[in-house]
Amino acid sequence: MPAAFDRVVVLDFEATCDSGTPPSPQEVIEFPSVLVSLRDREVVDSFGTFVRPVHHPTLSAFCTELTTVRQQDVDAAPVFADVLAAHRAWLEGHGLFDGQGRERFAFLTCGDWDLQTMLPVQCAAAGIPITSLPRAYRRWINLKKVFLDVVRKAKTTSMLAMLQALGLELQGTHHRGIDDCHNIARLALALADRGARFELTGKLAASHYPELPLELQRGDRVERIFLKKRHLASLLGLASGVFRTKIVRVVGPDGAAIEDDDPLAELPPESRLRVFGARDPAT
Ligand code: AMP
Ligand code: MG
Ligand code: MG
Repeated sequence: MPAAFDRVVVLDFEATCDSGTPPSPQEVIEFPSVLVSLRDREVVDSFGTFVRPVHHPTLSAFCTELTTVRQQDVDAAPVFADVLAAHRAWLEGHGLFDGQGRERFAFLTCGDWDLQTMLPVQCAAAGIPITSLPRAYRRWINLKKVFLDVVRKAKTTSMLAMLQALGLELQGTHHRGIDDCHNIARLALALADRGARFELTGKLAASHYPELPLELQRGDRVERIFLKKRHLASLLGLASGVFRTKIVRVVGPDGAAIEDDDPLAELPPESRLRVFGARDPAT
């Protein structure tokens, strides 16, 4: 069974928008989080700040109407890179990473948009490689899926519908990021009371990762390649071409065989992989 988390960090971005198509690139204007202990059934702490958009610094009237975030709020706010650094420091301050930097929590979002769409777009707009962030930012729990596991007959999974289904009132203002986070946290606690398991439901697709420079070693020969898609099949194909023989096995820097796409997603650039053809000695 996949791991269930007993600590989740609710995240709910607000971003530049308009009544039709949003500005391009869309940028985060509010970056709030709420740390929830599902085990102790409590909100532990919250983090929240506005963010100053730089590509489209003027908020539309529609955006302020929707989110209640005002022009003067974002004008006085730090830029995304600084807020991201503060957010990471806040997570670290709560002991949410172990000694190896591995996360001991998962992000919880209402839908997939925040970490699947908005964070990659915002990082690209700010010139921040998505892989320079801890991998926790590239995987998440979608509250809607947790909700549907518990309330199987539910027809809609908007935040308001989920609150209503669980007998909870909306608190604060819908579409204000910090208020949305607190309401999502209340939903999570209510679902935990009903026995919900909080397992990862999504992770960033390989197509969002940058090209990966690697060294491939076969016997004494070392070749440099650029892996465009982080798929094992792509790697085997590329390696077979480079070494002019069918490569059937790849061993990662940790000495373990790479058997699916997952280890490639988080492999650091310039890693050295050992590759083997069908008849190569195994060592
Ligand atoms: P939410 O977390 O539901 O408050 O939405 C996150 C972001 O999605 C908002 O900050 C907007 O950028 C965008 N958004 C949400 N609802 C709408 C809407 N009705 N029209 C345009 N953009 C929206
Ligand atoms: Mg949201
Ligand atoms: Mg929101």
